[in-house]
Amino acid sequence: MRIILLGAPGSGKGTVAKRLTAYDGSVQISTGDMLRSEVQQDTPLGLKALKFMVAGNLVPDELILEIIATRFELNPPSGFLLDGFPRTIPQATALDAMFARLGIQLDLVANLVVPEDVILDRLSNRRTCSNTACQEIYNLKSNPPGAGDTCRKCGSLVIQRADETVEAVTRRLQVYRSTTEPLVEYYTRTGQLLVVKDLKTDDVAASIIRAAGAHACI
Ligand code: AMP
Repeated sequence: MRIILLGAPGSGKGTVAKRLTAYDGSVQISTGDMLRSEVQQDTPLGLKALKFMVAGNLVPDELILEIIATRFELNPPSGFLLDGFPRTIPQATALDAMFARLGIQLDLVANLVVPEDVILDRLSNRRTCSNTACQEIYNLKSNPPGAGDTCRKCGSLVIQRADETVEAVTRRLQVYRSTTEPLVEYYTRTGQLLVVKDLKTDDVAASIIRAAGAHACI
């Protein structure tokens, strides 16, 4: 599958991406995970990105576009789930140009629509594996981590992300509405948008698989 997952923070993009990866081996490409890994390794890119991330703001387009171009040009995946990218109109137009250059045909853009009270509840209960090579996502209520707040997959400590404080979450939701939500109209115009209103991961994944099947051979 070649899919963009669109949706507010807490809409379930990462969890659904992992489910779809398990389904057909398409790779999850999460710009948030890539940036957290750069931050943890203290790279120049990580140092530039950190202040934007902690405040709940978007990292400048040019930094993200460089990460994405490097990922696709050096190691082009046959199937992918873009999780958290694009997040601005300039990112979407740059992605269109890159796909045209590389001859990549997108199957669809899935917009995960989740009510705000569910989002706030999910984000306040979300915990993430601190191992940047894993970054498994947990929910204290519906999918708790292992004993002693450890990751059930790799055993590392599970933490609340620095950008999941009430202030940062509020800011991230504002940024989503003002800067990322216009992409819904952008992809409606290109005819690629699939609106998904299911809340359970299994149902969301099934809706996407069904719709992608109508577009591509999966
Ligand atoms: P995420 O894990 O996708 O919620 O991303 C965490 C943070 O990384 C965001 O709040 C942004 O600061 C930054 N980030 C991730 N993806 C992008 C993107 N496509 N454009 C700009 N900033 C991004």
